[in-house]
Amino acid sequence: MVRVYGLILSVWGLLLTAAAAACAEQTVSGLHTHRVEPGMMPTSSSRARNVILMIGDGMGAEHVWAAWLCNHGKLNIERFPVTGFSRTSSASHTITDSAAGGTAIACGRKAHNGHLGQTPDGRPVISLMQLLAAGGRRTGMVVTKAITDATPAAFYAHVNDRHDTEAVAAALVNSGCRVITGGGADCVTPAQVAELRARGAVVRLAAPRDCLPASQRGDFLEKAVEEALGILGQGENGFFLLVEGSCIDLAAHENNLRETVLETLDFDRAIGCVLRWMQQHPDTLLVVTADHQTGGLSILGGSAARGEVRGAFATRNHSGVAVPVYAAGAGAARFGGIQENTEIFNKILDAADVSGSSSAPFRK
Ligand SMILES: [Zn+2]
Repeated sequence: MVRVYGLILSVWGLLLTAAAAACAEQTVSGLHTHRVEPGMMPTSSSRARNVILMIGDGMGAEHVWAAWLCNHGKLNIERFPVTGFSRTSSASHTITDSAAGGTAIACGRKAHNGHLGQTPDGRPVISLMQLLAAGGRRTGMVVTKAITDATPAAFYAHVNDRHDTEAVAAALVNSGCRVITGGGADCVTPAQVAELRARGAVVRLAAPRDCLPASQRGDFLEKAVEEALGILGQGENGFFLLVEGSCIDLAAHENNLRETVLETLDFDRAIGCVLRWMQQHPDTLLVVTADHQTGGLSILGGSAARGEVRGAFATRNHSGVAVPVYAAGAGAARFGGIQENTEIFNKILDAADVSGSSSAPFRK
């Protein structure tokens, strides 16, 4: 009996320690900061020839403002003239995962957690990347986790298990993408990479699975985005580029505030690259959003003057808050206000003047 009580007490102790760790305050300061060009980006009502969609995986408003404090009160994300919110619940859960969250944005349909590119009853649905490609635009993806991870996979795969990497990799080969940059070298076979290159894709898989964290990755994301814009921008009919700040989610799952801020700053620098490019290419729509918030991050103090943030995480999982949407350029005005994550799909197609149906079946 004594032994049973002892066991109960130690389990209780462990639970208390875990709860305390999840809620412990952390202070971050003295990070390397980046310059932000002044001035708000314009919007226009003209047709979006190019569409750039940037998803900060797990990036809630809290992550953005933590980064804002650390970058001394300046971020590229503040230069967007249109802001809104996206509600993130999935078909099966109030708290979505990246598969259902990605599918909602990519395909305009609420999906079950864990499912990619298909409806709750298992019907595959076409993604906006596939619709824009069918209309003659070049397509590409730049991410910092594996290229077969849930968020990018929602744009090209149609499977009911996000961890079925074999099926996802097979779909990647048929994605038609011209640029495939990120991690995940161990998630595709050498034959699949050779096939992608034979079809004209530039494939750069810089890590076996996820790329290194922002603190060790250097300017990988910025350079990859610049290269992708150069390659895709040569197309005759415009392009669609997906950029994912994939590891914001990872750092927030680990409740590591310092790495969460570094990942968000890295993502903001990549946004700066795109905004710079857009000054010469105003017929471009840029939408920045997230699939969900990770970590239940809360900001408890800090100082923009000192470049310091004090915060705490409430969970090691995702949370249920609506996430921010930022838009600039051609057709950006329609992204303001509070919207379902699925509406982003229709609004992008509308801005690009592509007729698409969120219920259109996808023929494999
Ligand atoms: Zn996550």
